[in-house]
Amino acid sequence: MLDQAQKVLKAVFGYDAFRGEQAAIIQRVAEGGDALVLMPTGGGKSLCFQVPALLREGLTVVVSPLIALMDDQVATLDELGVAAVALNSTQDAGQQREIAQRIRAGEIKLLYVAPERLVQPRMLNFLQGLKIALFAIDEAHCVSQWGHDFRPEYLQLGQLAELFPGVPRIALTATADLRTREEIIQRLHLQGAERFLASFDRPNIFYRIVPKEQPRKQLLAFLGERKGDAGIVYCLSRKKVEEVAAFLAEQGYPALPYHAGLSNDLRAYHQKRFLNEEGLIMVATIAFGMGIDKSNVRFVAHLDLPKSLEAYYQETGRAGRDGLPADAWMAYGLQDVVMLKQMLNNSEGDERHKRVEQHKLEAMLGLCEEIRCRRQALLAYFDEVLAQPCGNCDNCVDGVQTWDATEPARQALSAIFRSGQRYGVGHLVDILLGRDNERVRTLGHQHLSVFGVGKALGEGEWRTLFRQLVARGLADVDLDGYGGLRLTERCRPLLRGEVGLQLRRDLSSKLPKAAASKASQLVRSDQREQWEALRSLRRKLAEEHSVPPYVIFPDSTLLEMLRQQPASLADMARVSGVGARKLERYGEAFLAVLANNEPVAEVVDLRHELVSLARAGMTPAQIASQLKCSEKNVYTLMAEAIASQQLSLEQALDLPEDLLGEIQDVFLDGEGQLPSVASVAGSFAGQVSEGVLQCVRAALQVEFEASQ
Ligand code: ADP
Ligand code: ZN
Repeated sequence: MLDQAQKVLKAVFGYDAFRGEQAAIIQRVAEGGDALVLMPTGGGKSLCFQVPALLREGLTVVVSPLIALMDDQVATLDELGVAAVALNSTQDAGQQREIAQRIRAGEIKLLYVAPERLVQPRMLNFLQGLKIALFAIDEAHCVSQWGHDFRPEYLQLGQLAELFPGVPRIALTATADLRTREEIIQRLHLQGAERFLASFDRPNIFYRIVPKEQPRKQLLAFLGERKGDAGIVYCLSRKKVEEVAAFLAEQGYPALPYHAGLSNDLRAYHQKRFLNEEGLIMVATIAFGMGIDKSNVRFVAHLDLPKSLEAYYQETGRAGRDGLPADAWMAYGLQDVVMLKQMLNNSEGDERHKRVEQHKLEAMLGLCEEIRCRRQALLAYFDEVLAQPCGNCDNCVDGVQTWDATEPARQALSAIFRSGQRYGVGHLVDILLGRDNERVRTLGHQHLSVFGVGKALGEGEWRTLFRQLVARGLADVDLDGYGGLRLTERCRPLLRGEVGLQLRRDLSSKLPKAAASKASQLVRSDQREQWEALRSLRRKLAEEHSVPPYVIFPDSTLLEMLRQQPASLADMARVSGVGARKLERYGEAFLAVLANNEPVAEVVDLRHELVSLARAGMTPAQIASQLKCSEKNVYTLMAEAIASQQLSLEQALDLPEDLLGEIQDVFLDGEGQLPSVASVAGSFAGQVSEGVLQCVRAALQVEFEASQ
């Protein structure tokens, strides 16, 4: 069995060896046993059911909660030459009938379907008439009522056990906590499943947390070393998302906003661009994330503090799914703490719930002020022991300096107490530094015994100290009052002189510029040009096949090509990630680029040229022959140029007025949402090409956005 699995791994997926427990999982499932797989994002869960699907006779049914996820996997399998389809609500009855036919004829190996569809009696009936090889339940934590991804339809998947006795089932998730695990087993009736629990470490992610000083400037410095990389910048509020996205765009970074306040259509459009284009930065609230399968997200930056370590782990985990070095960067300050506490305070829910949330926030703050290895601390929170410091986080690399803050901390606490536990950090610092200003005078605070006792430290150091006192729960923010600081029970031993206090020193701004991270050094500088050439070939192929670039080849495979410099198809076949089908389809083209004897038409250049030709009045057909590419391609590029407002619809197409009106009407029937091209194409069959529809839609989209 394992021999065969190994062969499939190489021939179809192009990989040489299984990772971690993949082999054991595949063996278990291929031999007909049930399995529960807990593996972090990027761990390689998909292969755990895709390989058995190819080894077993019959149809593998994959349950997946999101259309975007399904489409991505189907496209990936398609590129590998594996017969996979997704059934979803965007297909019309005719398309669905055709898929059913192909399934009955045994032409399909994997069927992706949403849970609500799977549990429809008709669907279950249909499947019962077939030979089913395996059920794979992806994102199985959606069955948990306690998690924020809860999907009620998942609860009904338990019946598969009774309806399909003898058909193995595998449930997979990247959520590891004990309660979720038990819930999955119980609700999905997986009591007999073998459990595979992988380490949740993401060794390729470099963690860095810096004190927030001038966040935008700090972000720019961070991004400056990562030009051309795709990444996500998380912010807490919609407003801030908009502002930061605009700011980055102004600074010359390709950034798009994403939050729940945007129309569905615009959100979908931005998400699609993020997946399909390279080097885009998504500035987003936490509304963005689930279902992002993009493997080459090189960084995740937090401009605001997440509310728990669970959230931090999940959000940073979207970086580096491909296993290549990636960065998790965060700037945090006292204001974050105040904001989150405020939100928590105003949130609904009982006291117990609030206490739990409070506890989670404290754990998050603990990581920020951590003086040990960040990875050790993070994993410890998830009950996993990492024996040695990781060597791949800021604390390990830069070292942490601590200092004895016992005396200043007492002074600070005393300043809080003596001024009446109602003032914010600014005023408290004024008192400690003995600043004789109007506010101090009005309040008579120049007479306090702590007035001017803190001149040994600077303003910045005092601010850091207050932040750390709050982070450690020695002082608290009074949310009912004016947001001033007050003492907590926990500070008493320190005030009484029973314990001392060691704190980490903020160094970031004084430290010499940190060495460029591994993620920004993926490609040797002398190979940059070839790297770009490989990427643009990939981009061109991706556009031709209408799939995201990483579906053609992941970054790791392109990097392997750079490293190995294959000179023949036989060499190429040895590159990790090059399976038989891709070798046949793309081998020659990539060899040519590596041999540097065939300049790749840069898509971006192509678009520029296309824009000038269209402006000059050429028709799409003329442009296609001029640029030696398909007309379909010309339309796609035109639609993109229209979307980015390089081209107007009038410049692109010469449509009769009334026909244009007719097309626009059909699109605008969608009530505030632009329907997809595919869904309106039927209305114009034989009359207007999909390319034309694409362009008209793009123009409407621009108007839409302008009116937002
Ligand atoms: P998950 O679903 O667990 O987040 P994926 O299944 O998407 O992870 O796999 C992450 C990446 O790792 C994909 O690009 C996949 O092709 C790659 N991968 C998985 N298993 C292997 C392996 N055995 N060897 C090389 N690459 C692998
Ligand atoms: Zn470390």
